[in-house]
Amino acid sequence: MRFEDLRLSEPILRAVVAEGYTIPTPIQVKAIPHVLEGRDVLGCAQTGTGKTAAFALPILQRLGQTHPRDHGNTRTIRLLVLAPTRELAAQIGDSFGVYGRNTPLRHTVIFGGVNQNPQARALREGIDILVATPGRLLDLMEQGLVDLQHVQVLVLDEADRMLDMGFIRDIRRIVAKVPTKRQTLLFSATMPAEIRELANEILRKPVSVQVAAASIAADTVMQSVYFVEKTGKPGMLKYFLNNNAITRALVFTRTKHGADRVARHLSRAGICAEAIHGNKSQNARTRAMARFKSSSPPVLVATDIAARGLDIDEISHVINYDLPNEPETYVHRIGRTGRAGASGLAVSFCGSEERPYLKDIERLIRRPIPVSPDKPKLAVPETHPAVSQPHPQRATHSNPQQRRGRVAPAQHAMRGTPPAVREQHLQTASVASDQPQARPVSVGHRTSRRLKPRRRVVRSGW
Ligand code: AMP
Repeated sequence: MRFEDLRLSEPILRAVVAEGYTIPTPIQVKAIPHVLEGRDVLGCAQTGTGKTAAFALPILQRLGQTHPRDHGNTRTIRLLVLAPTRELAAQIGDSFGVYGRNTPLRHTVIFGGVNQNPQARALREGIDILVATPGRLLDLMEQGLVDLQHVQVLVLDEADRMLDMGFIRDIRRIVAKVPTKRQTLLFSATMPAEIRELANEILRKPVSVQVAAASIAADTVMQSVYFVEKTGKPGMLKYFLNNNAITRALVFTRTKHGADRVARHLSRAGICAEAIHGNKSQNARTRAMARFKSSSPPVLVATDIAARGLDIDEISHVINYDLPNEPETYVHRIGRTGRAGASGLAVSFCGSEERPYLKDIERLIRRPIPVSPDKPKLAVPETHPAVSQPHPQRATHSNPQQRRGRVAPAQHAMRGTPPAVREQHLQTASVASDQPQARPVSVGHRTSRRLKPRRRVVRSGW
């Protein structure tokens, strides 16, 4: 299937080609025809599957068919997109800018944590498309700055996350102000009962489309787990970052304090890292993300909420410093790497009290996550307290090379994986295993210039 086969108009196709997309992703193939027909859609897909284009391309085409000023003298908001976090909202706004570059449609993004004046100005000047987080939108609505009575299309993105974040009442209040005669699209990475209930309330005869999150994760992301106790995690992380060819690594912690602690620990160890979480100001978060995009620092430590909407293609490694207690969150997290058809590596540090979480994750993704051996003994003294022994039933020290510690963990974890994924990771891992132990590839300040740039991924591997 090609984009041309999806009945997209010429200005939209030109934008898609300019972005370097050659083949539509599965969610795009499934959703675009229905959205073009004006149907309501209930989409089960996580970020990283190309779902933004799945709704943005056909909506831009539909809205572009009527002139922006057909509704009197000023532009009116005809599309409202609700997203849970500022980062995701900003990312969706950017996508509308890119995909809509050949249309006369104007968009703006509003979210909290920043001065409202520029947002209010953009609203006054007139826009066709509004992307918003629920809290700030309600604020501005209450001040009489937003008029939703001309909305023709309503999109709820990452609906499950909005519910998790306690936005359900806000969403209901906002939806009540949108005309009932409209097209509604609801996207969610998971479909718990509350989402189905909300979908029943706000969608009319929706078409359900879904791409399996678990198989996405499994196909493009190499996963492995290290059994390591809490006290050993800082040392393990430092070791891992110093001994793998990292382009960009996203490290997940469960708490904001944890994120700060890990970033501080890495900085003290000479590894350039920064933390982002909800306690940081929006400007600090935006700056940190921009720096991370340019790989300086190449390590970002984040909580789940702060990382939502992070759209950076070349994250080579996702590290679950803490395992999440919700298995779906694991799938979200590892979806940060292996994006747009590229492959990535996800490693998890699992303490004994986190074993039940690991079980839940494996149940959700319907496969066991390969266990990596502990640190090669050449690099770590036998008595080093940092690393616990692998799980007895799952230990995989069968290869004598691994017993001697000469195989990089990433390489070891690749057995039984598709050849393309293996090849990519062998390239990554061989850098680690080829380095003499005394001269590790490092992401620290002192050695960061030795980082190997990853091959740029051609976006056609869907
Ligand atoms: P999303 O799930 O919308 O966050 O998209 C994830 C990433 O996939 C973004 O960086 C998009 O630019 C990229 N992407 C979306 N559609 C395609 C496509 N058809 N081909 C290649 N990359 C795509």
